[in-house]
Amino acid sequence: MKDLDQLTASRRAFLGMAAGSLALAGAAGPARAEKVKTKANIVILGAGAAGTAMANRLVERLDGAKITIIDARKRHLYQPGFTLVAAGLKSADYPVSNTKDWLPRGVDLIEEGAAEIDPEGNKVVTTGGKTVAYDFLILATGLKLDWDAVEGFDMNMVGTNGIGAVYAGPEKAADTWAAMDRFTDEGGKAVFFRPATEMKCAGAPLKYTFLTDDYARKKGSRGRVDINYFAHGGSLFSVPIVNEKVRMLYDDRGVKTEYNHVMKAIDPGKKIITFSTPEGDVETDYDFTNVIPPMVAPDAVRNSPLPWQSGKWVDQGWAEVDKETLRHVRYRNVFAVGDIAGVPKGKTAASVKWQVPVAEDHLVADIEGKLSPSTYNGYTSCPLITRVGRAMLVEFDYKNNLTPSFPGVIAPLEELWISWLMKEVALKATYNAMLRGKA
Ligand SMILES: Cc1cc2nc3c(=O)[nH]c(=O)nc-3n(C[C@H](O)[C@H](O)[C@H](O)COP(=O)(O)OP(=O)(O)OC[C@H]3O[C@@H](n4cnc5c(N)ncnc54)[C@H](O)[C@@H]3O)c2cc1C
Repeated sequence: MKDLDQLTASRRAFLGMAAGSLALAGAAGPARAEKVKTKANIVILGAGAAGTAMANRLVERLDGAKITIIDARKRHLYQPGFTLVAAGLKSADYPVSNTKDWLPRGVDLIEEGAAEIDPEGNKVVTTGGKTVAYDFLILATGLKLDWDAVEGFDMNMVGTNGIGAVYAGPEKAADTWAAMDRFTDEGGKAVFFRPATEMKCAGAPLKYTFLTDDYARKKGSRGRVDINYFAHGGSLFSVPIVNEKVRMLYDDRGVKTEYNHVMKAIDPGKKIITFSTPEGDVETDYDFTNVIPPMVAPDAVRNSPLPWQSGKWVDQGWAEVDKETLRHVRYRNVFAVGDIAGVPKGKTAASVKWQVPVAEDHLVADIEGKLSPSTYNGYTSCPLITRVGRAMLVEFDYKNNLTPSFPGVIAPLEELWISWLMKEVALKATYNAMLRGKA
C-alpha cells in the first residue's frame, strides 16, 4: 500500500502542476537514504532528458563515484515544446537551453559523441578518439531521425513548397508554423502521416493534424482545406481505446483517414508524396505536409553489439534491455533509458521520468551487492492536443491500460482545458525538475 501511495504521489508531482501548484519541493518524494560510498566508474552516453536526469540523480545517490557524461550537443532541447512552436504559440528559443547548465557539479562532461561502444571491453571510444573505460554504462542517446531515408527530402526545403518538419528542431518547427499559417490562409490539401518505425511521441503527428484543422476553422478557411491522415498500419494509435477516440474525433472534424500507407518519398517540385501500401506505391498530391522520418538508434549504438539481435527491431537498433528493469539482457552492467531503450512503449519524456529511477536503483543495488525490486511498467504519457486550448491527457502502460494520474478528476479521453494547461504550461516546469533529478 505504501508503494502505491508513493507511486501515486510521485506521478501527481509530475503531472499535478497544471492548477498552478508548482509543488516541486514535494516532488522529490521521500527523504533519500545516506549516500552509498563507491569508486565505481559510470559513463552516461547522452545529455538529453534521460542522461541529464540520471546524472543528477546519481550524484545525489553516490559518494565517490566517477561519473562521466558524453554528448557533443551544446544545446539542450525541450522537444515537447516543438509542437507549440510549430503551432505559432511559442518562439523558436522556447525549447532551447544550455546542456551544461543542467549538469551537476562533480560530473565530467566530454563534449564529443560516442563513436564506438565495446561492451566486451567495457569501454567507449569518442568521435575525437578518446577511449573511456567504465564499470557501468548508461545508454541515453535518444534516437536518430533518419531524414536520409525519405527519398527526395532535403532539410533546406522546410518552410518552402508547403513542407513542414516539426521534429527537425526549434527553428524548423518555426518554419513549419509559417508554412501552416500560409496554408490555412490559402487553403488546399494537407497530407499527414507517421513513420512505420518506433517513434518518439507517437501522438505528435496526430496533434499537428488537429491543430491544422483548428487553425483553418478559426480563420474561416476550413471549407477550402482538405485534411488527410495516412496511418502507417491498421490504426491511428497503438492503444485501442485511444485509437477509437481519435478516429471518432477525426470523423467529426472531417479529417479523412487512410490505413496501411507508409510514406517513402516526396517530390516538392510536383508537390507529390509517395506511400508504399500493400497494393504497391500510391502517389498523392499535397499543398501542406509535416514530414516525419523513420526513427532508428544512433549509429554508435546500432553498430555495436547492444541492439536486439532478432525480432521486429533488428533493423531499428534499439538496445536489448529487459522491459521492467531496463538492464541489458546480455551485458548486465549496461542500462538503457529514454528513447534508445528497446522496450514496447515509452518513447516520451514522461516515460523518462519513470524509467530513470528504476535503472538508477538497479545500478546502485549492484554497487551495494543487493537486489532492487524497482520495475518500470511502460508508463507513457501524451497530452494529445485536439485544438488550441484543449487536450486529452492520455496515459497508458505496457498492457494498454489507461493509467490516469487523477482518476475521477481528469478524464483521459475528454478534451479538457486543464489537460491543455498540462501541456502548454506545466509540462516544461516538470520536465526541468526531472532534469534536476527532483521529479
Ligand atoms: C515534436 C515532439 C513532441 C514531443 N512531445 C512530447 C510530449 O508532449 N510529452 C512527452 O513526454 N514527450 C514528448 N516528446 C518526446 C520526448 O522529447 C523524448 O521522448 C525525450 O526527449 C527522450 O529523452 P532522451 O534522453 O532519450 O533523448 P533526447 O532528449 O533526445 O537526448 C538524447 C541525447 O543524446 C545525444 N546523443 C545522440 N547520439 C549520441 C552519441 N553517439 N554519443 C553521445 N551522445 C549522443 C544527443 O545529442 C542528445 O543530447 C516529443 C518529442 C518531439 C520531437
